[in-house]
Amino acid sequence: MESRLKVTEKACKTALSKTQISSYDYTINPYTGCENGCVYCYANFMRRFSGHLRDRWGSFVDVKVNLLDVLGKELPRKPGGKIWLSSVCDPYQPLEKKYKLSQGVINLVSRNSGFSLSVLTKSSLVLRDLDLLEQMKDRVDVGFTITTFSPKAQRIFEPNASRVSDRIKALRRLNEAGIDTWVFIAPILPYATEEDLECGLRRVAEAGVKRLMTDRYNARGMIIQQTIQAYKQWNAEMDLKKVRDLLWHGDECYRQLDDRIARLWKEVATDATYEAVF
Ligand code: SF4
Repeated sequence: MESRLKVTEKACKTALSKTQISSYDYTINPYTGCENGCVYCYANFMRRFSGHLRDRWGSFVDVKVNLLDVLGKELPRKPGGKIWLSSVCDPYQPLEKKYKLSQGVINLVSRNSGFSLSVLTKSSLVLRDLDLLEQMKDRVDVGFTITTFSPKAQRIFEPNASRVSDRIKALRRLNEAGIDTWVFIAPILPYATEEDLECGLRRVAEAGVKRLMTDRYNARGMIIQQTIQAYKQWNAEMDLKKVRDLLWHGDECYRQLDDRIARLWKEVATDATYEAVF
């Protein structure tokens, strides 16, 4: 995959973006595009706004090489608030090993006491920055997205993301370091999210996670084609018409799945919290 990845270094004008997303004041996206290439990714729309309309999502990444210079100037000038790293890319996608932009963001935010930070990733690479996170542990939380606990489904639906077992190990390590963690079961995918669900939630609870959030699949034109193709690859016996109907119109299915996740979570994590965001 890496050999076909188109990487472009670009200058950005701003680093902090104001957001209406509840609980957050700003977002920072160090990269435009995401190597993880999840088939269901709603951030796919970014292709339109970044000159990549003809590129497959997951095949390009624009790197905001001056992000830390810009952010360093912006932070002291802005009223404080909570920053989400990141809303339309994985801040710890593989290129972060080389560019260290997310590491730099954590470093800068740690030196500006009016800001807190929420990191959302699918990558255990976040552990590289554990020492920095520990230094600001009263102002930082780290969330991991998990869509399916099935290794086979994961390889198909989110081909380049860290294995779920590595995400759970990383959650354990972060919790041992006293960092607030959470898990985002999203998007809930009928059948794929249900596979190995009870066992997976138990492992998350045993890793010390106290907060679970969920969101449903957000059906959109091209994304739905890719998602259905992934279902076909995952299980050739699957009734794809039924899958399509559920993805488009499965309100009741999502409600039932969400209830099931909430019930299982309550059983395996007795002192934890649960929130559905849809
Ligand atoms: S990790 Fe997140 S941003 Fe990246 S492709 Fe997957 S869903 Fe999209």
